[in-house]
Amino acid sequence: MRNQHLSPFFKNPNQVSLFIKREDLLHPEISGNKYRKLKYNLERAQQENHHTLLTFGGAFSNHLLATAAAGKEYGFRTIGLVRGEELAVTSALNPTLKKAQDYGMQLHFVDRNTYRNKNQPDFINSLSATWGNFYLLPEGGTNEWAVKGCEEILTPQDTIFDYICVSVGTGGTLAGIANSASKHQQVLGFSALKGDFLKTEISRWTKHTNWQLTDAYALGGYAKTTDQLIAFMNYFKEKTDIPLDPIYTGKMMFGLVDLIQQGKFPKNSRILAVHTGGLQGIEGMNRKLIQQKRLLID
Ligand SMILES: *Cc1c(COP(=O)(O)O)cnc(C)c1O
Repeated sequence: MRNQHLSPFFKNPNQVSLFIKREDLLHPEISGNKYRKLKYNLERAQQENHHTLLTFGGAFSNHLLATAAAGKEYGFRTIGLVRGEELAVTSALNPTLKKAQDYGMQLHFVDRNTYRNKNQPDFINSLSATWGNFYLLPEGGTNEWAVKGCEEILTPQDTIFDYICVSVGTGGTLAGIANSASKHQQVLGFSALKGDFLKTEISRWTKHTNWQLTDAYALGGYAKTTDQLIAFMNYFKEKTDIPLDPIYTGKMMFGLVDLIQQGKFPKNSRILAVHTGGLQGIEGMNRKLIQQKRLLID
């Protein structure tokens, strides 16, 4: 996707130039990196004559919704195993789950203990007794085909950049970018969740060592927000007219601008931030924030 230059709306002591890759514009619902991650999986599922996609996700999962939308578009039945039994009884589904259902996904709510088995082969095999044959997409959508799809995010024109920045959930996207980045480029991952375990996970998907990961901007953990983050995202929207999502890209951009302002990048560095999408999550987050009288502009 095209890169958009951001004229500095922030303190820029080392005169870096900042561009944003608008992967969020790839597709309204199969947004950004989820489109990349699904592409080769859908091809495989078709080649293997599967009619059903089964996957896992939390209540706000962009991956779940992307799978539901892709299923509708490409003619697969979709089944989503959702973490949290309690969600099934609250009759009002959140906007993400509601949209997934509207795309025809069958939602099946599982308790948190059962959900933990999501990567256990025995458990996964047992699911076909209920759901029949299916093509499995793991939680978050990361597998070797997803990583292959993410290797297509960078284009030959992007070799002019010194740094590529991306938000990290499972790390599949970062791994794909690291695989396709040029030797002189550094890939910086901004983790949306706390913890060091992700580094090991990412090393499974890329042999390259041109990447770094920080969880300094996870801001309390997955799907947690702070007033400062919300204020930053609204300011960013006002200055650039580009919306960010509260779970991933908002935290990446918050962290990236903080590092730029602190002068952490060498003089005149050229930085490309990947907008991985996820904008569908704004509405759900706003329902939480409105109760606290905080709001994201969308
Ligand atoms: C899922 C997602 C990510 C994280 O991608 P991973 O490959 O799991 O690291 C980043 N940004 C957005 C908007 C996402 O939806």
